[in-house]
Amino acid sequence: MKRVLLASNNAHKVAEFRQLFELHGVSDATIYTPSELGIVCDPPEDAPTYAGNALRKARAFAAAARAAGFADLWVLADDSGLEVEALGGRPGVHSARYHHAAPNGDGCAALLHELRDVPTEQRHARFRCVLAAIGPDSSEQLVSGTCEGFIAPTARGQGGFGFDPVFIPRGETRTLAEMTPTEKHRISHRGAAIRALLTAWAQRGHSARA
Ligand code: IMP
Repeated sequence: MKRVLLASNNAHKVAEFRQLFELHGVSDATIYTPSELGIVCDPPEDAPTYAGNALRKARAFAAAARAAGFADLWVLADDSGLEVEALGGRPGVHSARYHHAAPNGDGCAALLHELRDVPTEQRHARFRCVLAAIGPDSSEQLVSGTCEGFIAPTARGQGGFGFDPVFIPRGETRTLAEMTPTEKHRISHRGAAIRALLTAWAQRGHSARA
């Protein structure tokens, strides 16, 4: 049984990763959050790239886990963001900060306001997720996934988190927030990154798939 520490204090992400492991038939791995193992770690996310942030988080949590006596853990960290073409790729790696800086913390409303004069055909955007995994032997892996789409004219839906209410995946009419979790995971950047990681693990002989 593989024990995986998810290097995130974000409850939404933790829930998504648990659903993603389940959706992909991973039955020989258990996901733990830092708080479940009593691990306290809050590394800065100020690297200029997703990969830099994901690796920084994974290494910091791996060191904290070893220091706490957990030598057998896999550590999984992600960094993700929304890249809006009309904004030159912003907010990108600064997506979490974009929400914090927005009035009332409403990043969706701030984004819709920024794009108020941008017509539908120029509202192309993509989510990107980079995952860093560190094994008990300190081996490191980086994988990534994207989800192409466009920014909706208005926010719609109650599901998901972050920019989900304003993001319509390519080929869809609903926003990610109007989809079920399973529908989102099948097309999301995080789903694509997890599939890449599970494939990499299977190729290296430490399958976490049922
Ligand atoms: P971080 O990866 O914790 O730095 O956060 C990235 C930010 O990107 C989040 O706060 C969200 O605003 C946004 N984001 C990343 N993935 C998603 C997603 O699946 N749905 C909606 N927003 C997301």
